[in-house]
Amino acid sequence: MLRDLLIDRELFGKIRKEILKDQNEDDSKLEMDLFEKAVLKKLRKKRSLKKFKKKGVNRSDLKEIIELADIVSLEILGGPSNYQIAEEHPEWCNNCGACCKESSPIFIHKDEINALIMFNPDLKPEIIQNRLYEDHFQFKEDKPCKFYDPEIKRCKIYDSRPQVCRNYPLMMIGVGNKTRNIINLRYNCNYAVNLVLEKSMMLFDEAIRRLE
Ligand code: SF4
Ligand code: SF4
Repeated sequence: MLRDLLIDRELFGKIRKEILKDQNEDDSKLEMDLFEKAVLKKLRKKRSLKKFKKKGVNRSDLKEIIELADIVSLEILGGPSNYQIAEEHPEWCNNCGACCKESSPIFIHKDEINALIMFNPDLKPEIIQNRLYEDHFQFKEDKPCKFYDPEIKRCKIYDSRPQVCRNYPLMMIGVGNKTRNIINLRYNCNYAVNLVLEKSMMLFDEAIRRLE
């Protein structure tokens, strides 16, 4: 019910289907369930439902708001982009290293290759062409990325790391003929969980404002 005050149900369904169409495997579904549970736990502490119960607002509304925050940019409501929110809160990253240990492939755009190799000549044999996207390369070894140093919990090529690593937990995907930035909904990424939580709080407040 609250979500319907923010976005047309049909439009929401269409966006969700487009974005998730390549991620329908069981692993992704489980990952997303765990992710949404982690956000819901925090959201219930931040936004009490007691006062809105008489208006028919309940727990399923919170879940729907989180689903919306997962995939839709607040820009459609005149709010900040995912990048703006993420940039303001670097402290949400707790340097757990999960992104460096579990991501695959780690994309490197063809325009990044020269600079990357210029600063790290030893990297050349570590980079291979990506099979699906001709404009992209990737590290030969990942999961964990060979350049993650678990001792100091830091990237060994931090200053020249690929753009995809700089943007994490945001990532670009192609939807139709457009590109969209979305949040990698990894439940063990504190940065991603807090980013969706922040968006969920903003969406909840806006929906309540419209309800009242
Ligand atoms: S971006 Fe997320 S997964 Fe990566 S180190 Fe930070 S909190 Fe961990
Ligand atoms: S290049 Fe560095 S930042 Fe990127 S995945 Fe590897 S260790 Fe992490």
